[in-house]
Amino acid sequence: MKLSQRVQRLTPSKTIEITTMANELKNQGHDVIVLGAGEPDFNTPKHILDAAAKAMTQGLTKYTPAGGVVELKDAIRAKFQRDQGLEYNRDEIVVTVGAKHALYNLFQVILDPGDEVIIPSPYWVSYIEQVKLAGGTPVIIEGTEKTGFKVTSDQLKDAVTEKTVAFLINSPSNPTGAMYSRQELQNLGDICLEHDLTIISDEIYELLIYTDEKHVSIASLSPELKAQTVVINGVSKTYSMTGWRIGYAAGDARIIGAMSRLSSHSTSNPTSVAQYAALEALTGTQEPVDRMLSAFRKRRDYVANRLLRIPGIHCDVPQGAFYIFANVAEAAQTAGYDDADAWAKALLEQEKVALVPGSAFGSSAHVRLSYATSMDQLQKAMDRIEQFVTQS
Ligand code: PMP
Ligand code: GLU
Repeated sequence: MKLSQRVQRLTPSKTIEITTMANELKNQGHDVIVLGAGEPDFNTPKHILDAAAKAMTQGLTKYTPAGGVVELKDAIRAKFQRDQGLEYNRDEIVVTVGAKHALYNLFQVILDPGDEVIIPSPYWVSYIEQVKLAGGTPVIIEGTEKTGFKVTSDQLKDAVTEKTVAFLINSPSNPTGAMYSRQELQNLGDICLEHDLTIISDEIYELLIYTDEKHVSIASLSPELKAQTVVINGVSKTYSMTGWRIGYAAGDARIIGAMSRLSSHSTSNPTSVAQYAALEALTGTQEPVDRMLSAFRKRRDYVANRLLRIPGIHCDVPQGAFYIFANVAEAAQTAGYDDADAWAKALLEQEKVALVPGSAFGSSAHVRLSYATSMDQLQKAMDRIEQFVTQS
């Protein structure tokens, strides 16, 4: 049987793959510690579970509008107004099956074959494949350790060609946790306006920030930038709702309408009950978010401190998200591994600690550790990594 060219070119998601592999090992009885996929270990807060149960008993279990129920759209609009001072109409909001689906639909509706999307590295693994699936070409501009893994407006300017359609920014970033300042966003935004680029702003880690700095949405900097930006967000990370699959996008009504029409022919609608759970997440008490945030902060500090004491490994203490992007090039070289990927593979085989190799994010010198897991697991993982490095 035939497989399409499109799908033959597709590489599986390494973040998902490594986690599945590690969980399989676990199920076989191995004592594996998984610092793989970025997924909070907490259960979804109780008041959200209750809202979902109530929706079920009330019979809210039918098809909904493709772009989401009005109540949830209104809650998303209120959230944008409250957190960023951004005003959107209902037709400028679409609810999707996770933020990943919002991004997928967005690339499908804005790209034609050959169109280029500029993506800063290190990047989240799915951006590249999603752009390619839409027939587009990802163009990478490199954020290095020296610049705190951020790209500059000069780099963006140099990468723009006649084929550039969009620029993607993810702040706070997966995998580095780096966050752009207002001024940096303004500088990048100016280039986008000059070249009429659509700005895709993935703000899924917006509330997971550990410094005093506040998240700034590039869309909030001026009416011109708002008109040019599609903001992507969702409830997966902030509310520990990864399995519920609710994300959303906000932006120009033509683009949002097209995304919604695309959903109407693929998913029909995001799961009705999950939409009511997301409604409660956005409108109910935010106390669980504060609790999770303070746990993440402690874990971040612990993991960074331990890693920095291991010879041949270095990392920044990230500002946001729940990942540490650690440079293990020296440790890998000392132990005779070709790159960070080979090092991570050996670590899994020998010490049963699963990390995501940096190649998933565009770097052969790094590995990504997710610290969205319990302190107990993190302590064990750090002991094992230390042992792996010092004994090899
Ligand atoms: N963007 C980034 C940067 C992410 O890390 C994730 C995590 N999966 C997503 C989007 C998608 O989130 P979800 O589909 O779970 O809402
Ligand atoms: N975004 C998370 C990660 O990067 C979850 C897995 C995924 O969707 O790729 O690990």
